[in-house]
Amino acid sequence: MMNLSTANLQISLNDGNSIPIIGLGTYSDPRPVPTKTYEAVKTAIEEGYRHIDGAYVYHNEHEVGEAIREKIAEGKVKREEIFYCGKLWSTYHDPEMVRPALERTLKALKLDYIDLYIIEMPMAFKPGEEFYPKDENDRIIYHKSNLCATWEALEACKDAGLVKSLGVSNFNRRQLELILNKPGLKYKPVTNQVECHPYFTQTKLLKFCQQHDIVIVAYSPLGTCRNPSWVNVSSPPLLKDELLTLLGKKYNKTQAQIGLRFNIQRGIVVIPKSITPERIKENFQVFDFSLTEEEMKDIEALNKNVRFVELLMWSDHPEYPFHDEY
Ligand code: NAP
Repeated sequence: MMNLSTANLQISLNDGNSIPIIGLGTYSDPRPVPTKTYEAVKTAIEEGYRHIDGAYVYHNEHEVGEAIREKIAEGKVKREEIFYCGKLWSTYHDPEMVRPALERTLKALKLDYIDLYIIEMPMAFKPGEEFYPKDENDRIIYHKSNLCATWEALEACKDAGLVKSLGVSNFNRRQLELILNKPGLKYKPVTNQVECHPYFTQTKLLKFCQQHDIVIVAYSPLGTCRNPSWVNVSSPPLLKDELLTLLGKKYNKTQAQIGLRFNIQRGIVVIPKSITPERIKENFQVFDFSLTEEEMKDIEALNKNVRFVELLMWSDHPEYPFHDEY
């Protein structure tokens, strides 16, 4: 049984490693100049976070690495106490590009391994140096990749010691099954990182993942930012929700803390992003209270089945994951 009162709580992964149940997200939108990621990661480690979620495509992995290495040099943490998740971007799905992409992440971080490397999206884009390769009509150029071949290249990176665990992100059930049923599969995905919060509870995908010993990592656990250029703002702001507000009053917690606690109590890892020191602290203060079973059910009933992150601009991609039921 998980001890949910421990802030350094870890969840076991199917490959024998474990993942801290709360991590700091590092995708900043808008991206402040200078970006505040370096300070945010340092603050987070000071406050007790031991898990950082990042990606090469976020343009700030060098800052994440600098902050982590500084905290190690200070003696605040040891490398093996830190869990870093990096992501394979969609232009690097071809098997021969996988290891060079991971090595680029390691170089940016100035670390010699990472703890988790995940396929960021099942949709591949035209391989090359452009993150968003576009045609003359300003449309992203799609690419047909073979997710199983990409996965085998990732398995080789684990065998080479560059990464401890392998996972995926934004995969639906069919795409997970593609990997799970791959002939000769050496390592199962340990995690599937997907949008998950009280307005999008992922009940079916959670059940499927639990059956296969895959941990769900909840991105946008606070309902993300409200940038209409890529966020579906037709769904109301999560942190203004009445029930979360009411429960917050009961427990002397904020709506954000109630929302995070909801996922943690379901065995879901949360990676709230903040570059605001008070909020980084606040989001970590979720281990000194618990929601009752009835309150958990009431929050689950808030589910609207509407995503904030729909990625609709790529909905005609053959591997667009969100057409399927889950
Ligand atoms: P989020 O963590 O749900 O929300 C971040 C927003 O909430 C920011 O605007 C932040 O503002 C604000 N915030 C943070 N703590 C708060 C609090 N206690 N009270 C009020 N507002 C608060 O959204 P997200 O960044 O979309 O998701 C988290 C992380 O998941 C990302 O950073 C990234 O690492 C990962 N992610 C992955 C994918 C994927 O495809 N795999 C997609 C999306 C996100 P300030 O920063 O200004 O404080």
